[in-house]
Amino acid sequence: MTTYLNTSNGQSVGSDKTFASINPATGETLGNVPISSRQQVADAIAAARAAQPAWAARPDAERKALMMKVAEIIKANDAYLADWVTREQGKPLGGVGPDQVPGARFEVWGCEVWTQVPASLDMPMEVAFEDETRRDEVHRKPYGVIAAIAPWNWPLLIAIWQIIPSIRAGNTVVIKPSEYTSIGTLEMVRLISEALPKGVVNTVSGPGEVGSWLVSDPGINKVMFTGSARTGAKVAEAAAKNVVPVTLELGGNDAAIMLPDADPKAMAMGLFWGAFINMGQTCAAAKRLYVPESLFEPTVQALKELAQAMPMGNGLEEGMVMGPIQNKMQYDKVVDLVESAKAQGGNVVCGGTPRGGAGYFYPLTLVTGLKDGDRLVDEEQFGPVLPIIRYRDVEEAIASANRLDVGLGASVWSTDVEKAKQVASRIQAGTVWINQHGMIHPMVPFGGVKGSGYGVEFGLDGLKAVTQPQVISIKK
Ligand code: NAD
Repeated sequence: MTTYLNTSNGQSVGSDKTFASINPATGETLGNVPISSRQQVADAIAAARAAQPAWAARPDAERKALMMKVAEIIKANDAYLADWVTREQGKPLGGVGPDQVPGARFEVWGCEVWTQVPASLDMPMEVAFEDETRRDEVHRKPYGVIAAIAPWNWPLLIAIWQIIPSIRAGNTVVIKPSEYTSIGTLEMVRLISEALPKGVVNTVSGPGEVGSWLVSDPGINKVMFTGSARTGAKVAEAAAKNVVPVTLELGGNDAAIMLPDADPKAMAMGLFWGAFINMGQTCAAAKRLYVPESLFEPTVQALKELAQAMPMGNGLEEGMVMGPIQNKMQYDKVVDLVESAKAQGGNVVCGGTPRGGAGYFYPLTLVTGLKDGDRLVDEEQFGPVLPIIRYRDVEEAIASANRLDVGLGASVWSTDVEKAKQVASRIQAGTVWINQHGMIHPMVPFGGVKGSGYGVEFGLDGLKAVTQPQVISIKK
C-alpha cells in the first residue's frame, strides 16, 4: 500500500505513524497518509517563514507568471487529480457532462480557474488622502505565513481557495487537509510545488490535533479555516492567543424561498442542484426549501421526478451523477436526521431508507410535513436530504429564513426580479442568490454572517483579506 507524502520545504516528508484513506463508495483502502508529528508541523512553519521574505520581494509579474504555471500544472494533471477526488471524496467524475454536473472534473477545472483569476488580479496602491500638505498612500502587505485548514467536501477546490490568494499576495502557506480526504490535496500540492520555490506551499496531515498545533503556533500570522462551527470556534480561540486574525468559512443552513409567482417547472432544475450538488455536502447548498401553498404540490412533484432520475453509484463509472456520502460520521448524521423527521411527523416523498450494501450510499430524499423547530429543518444536514416546508405569507418565510443563528447563503425564486430583490435584501446571509443557489464565482466575494463565520474569500476582497494595509504618510 502506497504512503503518500507531505511536501515541506520542497522535500517529500513521511512519518512514523500513518492512517489509511478509505474510498467511501467501496470501503477499499486507497493508500496511507502520514500523521505529522509536532516537530514536523514546526518544521513546515519554519520552512514557510524562511521562504516568505524572498517570495514577497519578488516582482509581482514573476509571482503572477509562476501562478499561471501552477494553473497549467493543474490542467496537465486534471485526469489524475479528478480520479483522486472521485476515489477519495466520492463525487462522480462528471456525470452527464462536465459543464452540467458539478463532479470531480468540475472541481479540478475550478482549481484551475480559481488559480488564474487571483493570478490576474492587481491590488494597486490607493491614495487615501492628498492635499497641499500631505499625501497618504495605502499599500497592501502580506501577513507572512498563513495556516490553512480544509474540510472534506470539496477537498482540492477549497485548498486552492486558501492557498492561491495567499501566495499571490506574497504570503507563504502551511495547509492541513481533512483527514478524510488528504491524498488528493497532498498530491496536488506536490505537483504544483514544482512551479514554486521551496517552502512557499507546505503540507502537514493528520487528525484535528495536527491542525490545532498548526493554528496555535506563534509562527503563524493569519489562519484560514473552512469547516464546522464547532471547530471554527476552537481555531479562533487558539489564534486569538497569538493575536492572529482568522477567516472563518463555517457551516450554514441556507433557506431557499419560492415566491408565489415562481415557476416550479422552469425552476426545478436550479432548485435541485442548489440543494443536491455534491450530495448536499456543500456549505452553501439549499438546506431547507420554503414553498407557498399554491405552488407546493407541483414543486414537490418536479423535484421528486428529478431526484428519482439521477443515477447514483461509484463515481468512477461514467454517467454517474450522485456518489456516496463521504464518511460514516456524516452518513450516520443523515440517517439520524431523517429518522427524527419521521418521528416528528415528516412525510418521506422519496428516498428516506439507507440503500445498504458497500459504501455510504443514501438515496436522494425529500421530506414534507415538517415545520420550523423540527430537527431536519433546524440542523445542518450536509447530505442528500431536503425538507420542503409550506408557508402562507412571504413575511412568514422571511422570518423562517432568518430565525437560525447561521447565515451563509440563501435564495429567492421569482419571475419578478425586483420583487425578489426586495425579499433578498431582508435576508440575513452573506449571499442571497436570485433564481439560482450556491453559484459562487471567483470574482465575487463569498463569506458568511452570524454563526457562519467572518471574512470573505474570492475576488479583490478575498485578496485583500490575505493582506494588511500599510499607510505611507508623506509630509509635503
Ligand atoms: P470539521 O470542522 O470537522 O473539520 C475541518 C478541518 O478542521 C479538518 O481538517 C480537521 O482535521 C480540522 N480540525 C479539527 N479539529 C481542529 C482543531 N482543534 N484545530 C484545528 N483544526 C482542526 O469540518 P468538516 O466536517 O470537515 O466540514 C464540514 C463543515 O464545513 C460543514 O459544516 C460545512 O458547512 C462547512 N463548510 C463550510 C464552507 C464555507 O465556505 N463556508 C465550505 C465547506 C464546508
